[in-house]
This record gives sequence, structure tokens and C-alpha cells, in this order.
Amino acid sequence: MEQFSFSYQKTTVAELPTTIQHLIQASEDVARHAYAPYSNFKVGAAALLAGGSTMVCANHENASYPAGTCAERGLLAHINPTEADQQINAIAVSYISDAKTQTPLSPCGICRQTILEQQLAQNAPIAIYMCSTDGHVIYVEDATHLLPFYFSSKNLEL
Ligand SMILES: [Zn+2]
Repeated sequence: MEQFSFSYQKTTVAELPTTIQHLIQASEDVARHAYAPYSNFKVGAAALLAGGSTMVCANHENASYPAGTCAERGLLAHINPTEADQQINAIAVSYISDAKTQTPLSPCGICRQTILEQQLAQNAPIAIYMCSTDGHVIYVEDATHLLPFYFSSKNLEL
């Protein structure tokens, strides 16, 4: 039997570098602007680009539920991974919710696939900071850690 394992770090916002604290703050700020009238689960995602800028996006729900878009995928839709200054070094994901749990939020499956596409296209790892509502953070240094046995363009090669 083979085994898949990966490294992750559990920490708090206060223990992270200032750059990442600002990135997390940006994701928290944009979560307040989410359009989530159905779930009231407001998600914010922020990307730290190689050029030094930060881009943000919140989730956007729809009465036709499948038409809604996650914050992470909305964010990535605005970024071109083949442009060097738009390569992503890190993504932070935060949320606001009335749910009982305060655990760090990890991207859903389809967002993991989308983040991984970006990582493969830019050929550089993307660190993902998954934030709780009370200052705790889990992070991984490579998007592949969240999606073992992923599907990619290699599967489409003839
Ligand atoms: Zn998602």
C-alpha cells in the first residue's frame, strides 16, 4: 500500500509575516462585500501577485444556485497565469458566517482544481492560507497538497 502525505502549518494570523497578515486582512475585508443572500456564508479571497499587488474577490450567489461563483474562482478569473507579474505567490481565504464552526476554511473541490490550474500554468507553487473567524490559520505551501491525484492538461495530451 502506498501513502500520500503532505506538510501543513497551523498558526495564528499574528505569527505570520506582515505581508501575509495584510493579505489575510484583504480577504477578510472583501468577504464583507460578498453577495450571499441565500447561504449568508460570505467568503473573501485575496491573491498576492509576484508583481507585489493584491487582488481580491468575494463569493457571488445566484437564485439559480449552480450559477453562483466561489470567491477563489472569481478571483482567478481576473488573473492571467502566463503573465509574469500576475503569477500568484499566495492566496488567503477568509469567511464570515453564522455557522457554529470557526474552523479554518479550505477551498471547495472545484476551487482546488482551479487554483491548481493556475499553479501549473505559472509553474510555481501557490501557498494557500485558510483562515478561521477567530485568527487561526492553516497553510500549505503548494496547491497540489490539497488535491492529490489531480486532473490536469497532461491527461489531455494525445
Ligand atoms: Zn469553491
